[in-house]
Amino acid sequence: KNQDTKPDISRAKSAELYAKAKTFFPGGVNSPVRAFKSVYGTPLFIQKGDGPYLWDADNNQFIDFCCSWGPLILGHNHPHIREKVTEVMQNGMSFGAPTALENELAELILSNNPFIEKIRFVSSGTEAVMSAIRLARGYTKRDKILKFEGCYHGHVDALLVKAGSGLVTFGETSSAGVPKAFADETIVVSLNDKEAVAKAFEEFKDQIAAIIIEPVPANNGLLLQQPEFLQYLRDICTENGTLLIFDEVISGFRVSFTGAAGHYQIKPDIITYGKIIGGGLPVGAYGASAEIMGNISPEGPVYQAGTLSGNPVAMAAGIAQLSELLKPDFYTELNQKTATFVNDIKQFIADRSYPVQVFQIGSIFWFAFTEQQAIRRADEIDPQSMDKFKLMHQELLNRGVYVGPSGYEVGFVSATHTPAVLDKAKQAILDSLDVVFASFKA
Ligand code: PLP
Repeated sequence: KNQDTKPDISRAKSAELYAKAKTFFPGGVNSPVRAFKSVYGTPLFIQKGDGPYLWDADNNQFIDFCCSWGPLILGHNHPHIREKVTEVMQNGMSFGAPTALENELAELILSNNPFIEKIRFVSSGTEAVMSAIRLARGYTKRDKILKFEGCYHGHVDALLVKAGSGLVTFGETSSAGVPKAFADETIVVSLNDKEAVAKAFEEFKDQIAAIIIEPVPANNGLLLQQPEFLQYLRDICTENGTLLIFDEVISGFRVSFTGAAGHYQIKPDIITYGKIIGGGLPVGAYGASAEIMGNISPEGPVYQAGTLSGNPVAMAAGIAQLSELLKPDFYTELNQKTATFVNDIKQFIADRSYPVQVFQIGSIFWFAFTEQQAIRRADEIDPQSMDKFKLMHQELLNRGVYVGPSGYEVGFVSATHTPAVLDKAKQAILDSLDVVFASFKA
């Protein structure tokens, strides 16, 4: 049914740039999902963004729900961020020495976050997670890590690991180039499965340094967990001297200023941040109690460093962005308009009895082409359903809406997506759903 229809929007310039890019970069891109492998057509090369909008190289305009994969909670090209970054840049880009700006961003975060006492800035989410894992291992003097199938934590060797068969398994590497010996230190279990977690702790008593989880799993669909499950992880970690790491690279400063820890009121031992914290520039961070962070060099024995860590330009962008987020009612307004947008779409879907769900938390949403009311585990997503997303993606582009080019990716709403913009996007989504279900009708 779902034949390879040609995209309608003009992609001549993008196609030309992509052909050239392929001569420079593997797959023509600097990060794999950008290559549009799971959707129709050539990847769109972007020339600019402003507020909720993106323009590609062919001058097509889109309402953007990818938002650079999450960082742009204030939309594109926010004037305060641009001004602050431009001002700081006048004094140079990087010194590799401490600056007042690092203090300023740290103070903004720590004085508004009861879950961590000290923080270390790095330059990406991957780096934050990699460092947090090392810290947990150094602190507990244990080697094993427990992760969940369907959570993504960046391209850290020990976490590019997927479940084997069985309730509790050592991971199998999910990327070439990861030594089996590394995967052997990673235990992989299903989300929402207390029994599997308990069994892992029985089997590997006193060996598990940390459980790492995206408390709002948002890299493989939006697999919202029940708070009881997260609390269970907290408790079993405490009982076993294992550290609980919340990877809040997406959820941090997104579901609330204090992320998922604040949303669920569960205190992890280490939190990792990325994306929003840098206002669109490369910043990651990890934080914990002063006692745990005291293990990081130069205070303690766990080594971690970075040439551009805490660089002033990136700090400036983070300061400008996070200051906006602390304004009264920022999250109430953002979350409320997202809920209205999603609920209207859900109503339409219910009226037509389409087999599709929209899951939402805060300003994150995800379409799942299934009748199933709740999806909490990666293996509950039907890979076949991605055919419908593929068609929807193209129909959305044709109607001026840009979402991440994979059905496993979530959408993000920014402060600049006004109710009027969201209404326009909603109409495009409804029309696209009609096309998808007309095309897939038995
Ligand atoms: N952790 C989570 C939860 C993420 O979503 C990501 C990236 O999407 C990462 C870690 C890795 O961050 P980065 O891409 O900045 O290395």
